[in-house]
Parts: sequence; structure tokens; C-alpha cells
Amino acid sequence: MRTSIPADYHSHTHLCRHAGGRPIDYAQAAVVRGIQEIACTEHIPFPNDPFPAIRMTMAELATYFDDVREAQDSGLCTVLLGLEADYQPTLVTGHIQAILDSADFDLILGAVHSGPFWDLTPGCPTATPEFIEQMAHTYYQRMTELAQTGLYDICAHFDLLKRTGVFAPESLLAKIVPPALDAVAAADMAIEINTSGYDHGAGEAYPSLQILHWMRERDIPITFGSDAHSPSDVGRYFEDAVKLAREAGYTQRAIYRRRRRTLVPL
Ligand SMILES: [Zn+2]
Ligand SMILES: [Zn+2]
Repeated sequence: MRTSIPADYHSHTHLCRHAGGRPIDYAQAAVVRGIQEIACTEHIPFPNDPFPAIRMTMAELATYFDDVREAQDSGLCTVLLGLEADYQPTLVTGHIQAILDSADFDLILGAVHSGPFWDLTPGCPTATPEFIEQMAHTYYQRMTELAQTGLYDICAHFDLLKRTGVFAPESLLAKIVPPALDAVAAADMAIEINTSGYDHGAGEAYPSLQILHWMRERDIPITFGSDAHSPSDVGRYFEDAVKLAREAGYTQRAIYRRRRRTLVPL
């Protein structure tokens, strides 16, 4: 059986100030790459944003919707309307819920971006076993809380804390990741295979093969996302990601329309 390249359900635009291109440029790149479906998942805006330089503003949300509509109307490929919404305990649910209610979104990625893992490098003095353990506990606690809000459809880059190449030991992960996955399964969410990790210090997809096995045991569906911050990133390493999914036992992937999930063959 030969199937097409999976939909790319994680992409950004110039509106977040740390990416380039407009939705129509990503749609064009998908066509060139042989990808039939993408989702625009720009970072959700926040009021009183603590990091205004890396996200669109509330006022720009209307522009985002217009730009996605333009890509949809181009007929280049199927373009879904999504957002990547941070889970931040201090900035949470009322605001996110209000934005999610403001448009007919197809899918919402839930992400935990904050944590000390951005600045750790392998071998740096901060990266003691105790520090890594505490960091991992906090991160997966946040991911659990994210799932428990019931606001999101798909977990983005589930094990992002390995981003720079500092890995928590397997024995620790075996203790703290399965309970977080139980929360994801209870929330009936999917988890993406995010291929940006191949280009980071981690050098592998988010999540790892081990976590994919634990996900498979819980019947947690998968999507694929390049986390494109440039049109040239669309579909990056998707062949590797499909192999990884199959290795973990997956034969299906999830697609979304208006926040309803359907499984299709991988
Ligand atoms: Zn981004
Ligand atoms: Zn992200």
C-alpha cells in the first residue's frame, strides 16, 4: 500500500515576527512537495503579552483569518484554520476559550513553550541530574494540566524539553511520561509527530520512539507537523516521521475538520 505524504498540521506565518511567508506561500510549498493538506497554526495572541516580539497581536488576528482565507480560496491545496495555543497557567483558559469561540477553527494545537530547557546545553553546569529531573517534572505537569483543560485537540512537540539535546534519563521518563499520556488519552486528544526536532539539538522528532510506543498502547491518535517557520520547511522529514510512526505500530493518522477528528490510513 502506498499512501500520500501526510497533512502538515503545524505551520506559522510572518505575523508572529519570528517566521516568514504568508499562508498562501505555505500552501504553494505544500503543492510543490506533494502535500495535499496543511493547517495554519499561528501562535495564539495574548492580552498583555509577556513576549510581544514573538507573537501576533490581538489586533492582527483578523489579518490572520483573512490571510488563511486567501490561501483557502486559492485552491492550491486544502488549507485548515488552526492556532498553536500556549498553555500558560497565568494567562489561561477564559482568554483562550474566547478566541477559540471567535472563529470556526479546524484544529487547535496545545503547547508548553516556557521552561529553562531553551537555554540548557549538553554538559553545561546547570544541567545537573537534579535540575533535569525537576525541569521534566514541571514540564509534564504542565502538559497534564494542558490536557485537563479540554481546550485543545492536539499536543504540539510533546517532549520539547529535549530541544537542545539535553535528554532526561529513560528511567525518569518511564515514571513521569505515562501519567501525562493518560491525561492526554482521557482528554481524547491526539499528539503530533513534530519534525522540527530533527533540525534542533535533539536531532530527532518530538516525541521519541519510546513515547510513541506508550502512545500507541493508549490508542492516542497522531498527526504530523513540520512546525514550519518558513515555506521551505513544509513537510520536512515527513518520510522519516512516517517510518517512525509505523515502527511504533501506527497504521492510521488523524485528520480534522471544524475540530472533529477522523482517522485515515497512514
Ligand atoms: Zn514559532
Ligand atoms: Zn511550538
